[in-house]
Amino acid sequence: MLSVQNLQCSYGDILALHDLSFEARAGEIFALIGANGAGKTTTIMALAGHLLPRSGSIHLGGDDVTSIGPRGRLARGVALVPEGRRVFADLSVEDNLTVGGHLQSLAELKANRDNVYTTFPRLAERRSQLAGSLSGGEQQMLAIGRAVMACPTVLLVDELSLGLMPKMVDECYRVIDTLKDQGLLIMLVEQSTQRALDVADQVVVMESGRSSWQGSGLEARQNPSIVGAYLGTIEGPEG
Ligand code: ATP
Repeated sequence: MLSVQNLQCSYGDILALHDLSFEARAGEIFALIGANGAGKTTTIMALAGHLLPRSGSIHLGGDDVTSIGPRGRLARGVALVPEGRRVFADLSVEDNLTVGGHLQSLAELKANRDNVYTTFPRLAERRSQLAGSLSGGEQQMLAIGRAVMACPTVLLVDELSLGLMPKMVDECYRVIDTLKDQGLLIMLVEQSTQRALDVADQVVVMESGRSSWQGSGLEARQNPSIVGAYLGTIEGPEG
């Protein structure tokens, strides 16, 4: 469903992604793991269309979307839950959701908002509250809800659990699991590698802008090098 081939991305002269390739399918959680600066956020931004690649390609459902920007990607079903949530603090919960559905008719918008409220009863209870006054976990739910408003087929999630209380982390993962069961592809960047490996169907380990290992979630969980390097016991990953 999502095919990335030989992707190179740069910030000015700085090459952040060197030669990244992978294929991801609908209905799976695809985790990108790696050290700080490995290129995970850059990959997410490239998939969202915020960063257009220097070379390589991105195909979605067989269509080449490589040179399409964020609005076009969103229209094709790629929605982003950005690092740090980035909710609109001065808008209500409801208005934040409305922004997420801005490409839709009023009837679609209302139906999708009702769906989000069913998935996140906490947001329904707080629909008139300013987003800036929500807790971190509630803001993360709102960021996910805002992305889901676009009825995506691909959900890009950059740092799902960063800074959240354990109970809220569990709640966010419950929702991610539900969305996966509904057939969405979830591209997950997660600082808690343990948590990412627990849920991932596929894993790419990134190092210095390259993929250093790819395999199933199960293979990753059973690979002593990955477990050692990223869950903190023994030596680094190998190809
Ligand atoms: P972290 O876990 O710390 O968020 P990451 O794996 O998400 O790291 P990226 O943020 O994608 O890594 O960064 C990849 C490389 O690109 C790094 O060397 C970083 O310094 C560089 N980089 C990221 N954003 C920019 C930018 N706006 N301008 C210049 N270089 C950047």
